[in-house]
Amino acid sequence: MMNRILLLRVLFDIPVDRPFDYLAPDDMNLTVGSYVLAPLGKRKAIGVVWEIETLDKLPVDRQLKQISAIFDTKPMSQAQRKFIDFVGRYTCFGAGRALKMCLPAIDALQPSPVRYEVSYLDSKASPMTPARQRVFDIIGNNSWPVGKLATAAGVSASVISGLVKTNGLLRTEVLVDTPFAKPDPDLPSKNLTDSQQSAAAHLVNTVQQAKFAPVLLDGVTGSGKTEVYFEAVAEALRQHPDNQVLILLPEIALTQDVLDRFADRFGAVPAEWHSEITGALRRRVWRQVAAGQAKIVVGARSALFLPFAKLSLIVVDEEHDSSFKQEEGVLYHARDMAVVRANTENCPLILSSATPSLESLHNAAQGRYGHLVLDSRPGAAQLPQISAIDLKLHPPASGKWISEPLRQAMSQTLQKQEQVLLYLNRRGFAPLTICRSCGERMKTPDTDSYLVEHRFNGRLVCHLTGYSIPKPDKCPSCQEVDSLHPVGPGVERLAEEVAVLFPEARCEIFSSDTTTNPQQIRELIAKMENAEIDILIGTQIAAKGHNFPKLTLVGVVDADMGLGGADLRAGERTYQILIQVAGRAGRAQLAGKAMLQTHQPEHEAITALLANDRNRFVSAELGLREIMGLPPFGRLAAVIISAADEKTVEDAAKDFAALAPATTTEIEIWGPSEPVFTIVRGRWRRRLLIRSSKTTNLSAYLKDWKERYKIKGSIRVKIDIDPYSFM
Ligand code: ADP
Repeated sequence: MMNRILLLRVLFDIPVDRPFDYLAPDDMNLTVGSYVLAPLGKRKAIGVVWEIETLDKLPVDRQLKQISAIFDTKPMSQAQRKFIDFVGRYTCFGAGRALKMCLPAIDALQPSPVRYEVSYLDSKASPMTPARQRVFDIIGNNSWPVGKLATAAGVSASVISGLVKTNGLLRTEVLVDTPFAKPDPDLPSKNLTDSQQSAAAHLVNTVQQAKFAPVLLDGVTGSGKTEVYFEAVAEALRQHPDNQVLILLPEIALTQDVLDRFADRFGAVPAEWHSEITGALRRRVWRQVAAGQAKIVVGARSALFLPFAKLSLIVVDEEHDSSFKQEEGVLYHARDMAVVRANTENCPLILSSATPSLESLHNAAQGRYGHLVLDSRPGAAQLPQISAIDLKLHPPASGKWISEPLRQAMSQTLQKQEQVLLYLNRRGFAPLTICRSCGERMKTPDTDSYLVEHRFNGRLVCHLTGYSIPKPDKCPSCQEVDSLHPVGPGVERLAEEVAVLFPEARCEIFSSDTTTNPQQIRELIAKMENAEIDILIGTQIAAKGHNFPKLTLVGVVDADMGLGGADLRAGERTYQILIQVAGRAGRAQLAGKAMLQTHQPEHEAITALLANDRNRFVSAELGLREIMGLPPFGRLAAVIISAADEKTVEDAAKDFAALAPATTTEIEIWGPSEPVFTIVRGRWRRRLLIRSSKTTNLSAYLKDWKERYKIKGSIRVKIDIDPYSFM
């Protein structure tokens, strides 16, 4: 038989949107999906075999290189390859950039390293010495790492190796990456209420169908959505021993709590995946997900790109959360891409929220998603009573932020030995620093944003870029000493006010500055749960997901924040966050209440909240979006053009706009215009917004547009499909 030639098309994690051709060495067992190392220009790069073509002979003009090596890991599934192609196309970033999010560091592509352990074999096998005796005295039935046994017995490592050689001890290889424990779906669950039971039964049934089916689990805060989706997870695990489940969460602060709850319910700690996990743990999770050994994965949006062997259910918890939108690198929305991944894997998907996004509510209303509603809390727990404090009638003293009615309510709560959460979504001490002498506002040098004072470390910080400087003791503009004055409140400043009002109370700040890693978050949450904190002052990191049984009063310091601005979702977002934060109160037996300090008690979002009338708010917002043809009734994309100086960006934006492919009534282009932040990290910016009908392929239109434009010099053009940030 004639020798046939295998032509491999390999995709790399580079911004070139097509695979490259290679030949397969005879001794390599390559298939579509294999992870390989191949020469690319002057270096060797990791890629994935995207297609294989069999040729009778190679065209004479083609000089192809060979693959250098194949990695010992399970090939990428067809479903995942389809998913990557889709993400690349939809976001306009290309399949190569989408692949990059799926590739681990090179050492995760190698098998787990091994280490050695020793255990008892036979104490009579070799002559006894005092040192050997000490080893046998403590070894027991355990398997010991060599170093640990040597230290414990007070002997040198050579004593241990001597015992191994003479068959006194048995040496075994163990994997450094220990396998994840297998979850048990049949451990006892909570006794579900009737409405929880019927929602759970519906989800169990959906899981049994084992095909693509999105369901919106729409339940008020504390209604037991997590308990309900646990039943779907349990069913997925029961259905087939190979089944894997992915739970996506918006914040690592939530991950900790949910990991513990999973461990309680299923008797095994799930695999976790987010930006904070490093090195060996990343390898352990990635490889065991690929091998199908990790059954439950709880993670942030990047977990969507893990190489699941048999994904059988995806849960997106807090699906409305805007932090599912990735704003750096490839711009994608993890909730939307989770729907796509569930589709390519042909598995069910649960979108869970107390305040679903308008997009998901609309999809449910149109019958594209199933819709399950939980409208009460189980048992004695009641939804909090929400009231407004009109700051025009009860203004706090100058430089103070807590009104008299809120102070009184806090005082009563503390007297009953219950807890208070003060919510203010502003990190630091003060959002603005002004010179009292010349009026100078402290700004980031190369960025169009104000510096935020952080008193705990004495610095002024840019929240957009991370730039920071020690707070100067004189104004950099007029040189006046001690003239820099904080304006407005941040959580640190609020903590100072609380310390004066309630000197006896134990107060803690919960923000991404005070809790910088999962361990600190866990400790703070434990302190709050154990009632070792009386007043918690938190940013949005404290607003979601947590269950604090003794928390009965939530004070929202500035309910108006976020209502203004040109953001399409400003009203929706404010409504959601206020419901979520109010929902922290009264989650157990004790009744809770929430008080919103506001200057606009008549605002649509606030009145709907007070009246507990979500439908009114949702239909008003949807009505507006429909008239304007905005999502979910139309599509939206942004193009951000940036360059090293203002003239270049101005010209580039005009040139780019002039190249727009012919539009129809289906497509409208707004701009170019100056965004809120005209300079970020020294780069000048302009923005275009493009709106289209739902049926238009806006991604293809923008790809075509971008290809017409020749990018030169310092110019960058970034496409943002479904933008969430309008800054
Ligand atoms: P959600 O996800 O809707 O906010 P959770 O699932 O976190 O709600 O439930 C809120 C609290 O109520 C949790 O502490 C949970 O364990 C408890 N809970 C929910 N349902 C029940 C039930 N049927 N019996 C006992 N406790 C429950």
